[in-house]
Amino acid sequence: MTKTEEIKALKEKIKLLEGDIKAVENRKEEMTPERELAIALHGALCHCNHTDGCGWYWVEGNIDMWEHSSRRSYVDAAQKILNDGISLGTALRMITHIKDL
Ligand SMILES: [Zn+2]
Repeated sequence: MTKTEEIKALKEKIKLLEGDIKAVENRKEEMTPERELAIALHGALCHCNHTDGCGWYWVEGNIDMWEHSSRRSYVDAAQKILNDGISLGTALRMITHIKDL
């Protein structure tokens, strides 16, 4: 690889990392293992209409949506799974396997 190609490749990496930084900066909520697992559980298990059948994506004012009933039940289930000693990685892999059925 020439010096010019190497610089070009490094600039591409920088561009990708800057995109990652912006994504983190724009994240409105703090992610926790429970929330990450809750998102995966909802993605695998909820078959509701998200217009008026499930409030997962619903946002209202300054309400903490993680405390809303539409998300609370998934977070509670995620907490139980993690409390049973199942790691987040294992739980996420299990959900992926189940979704692949
Ligand atoms: Zn839903």
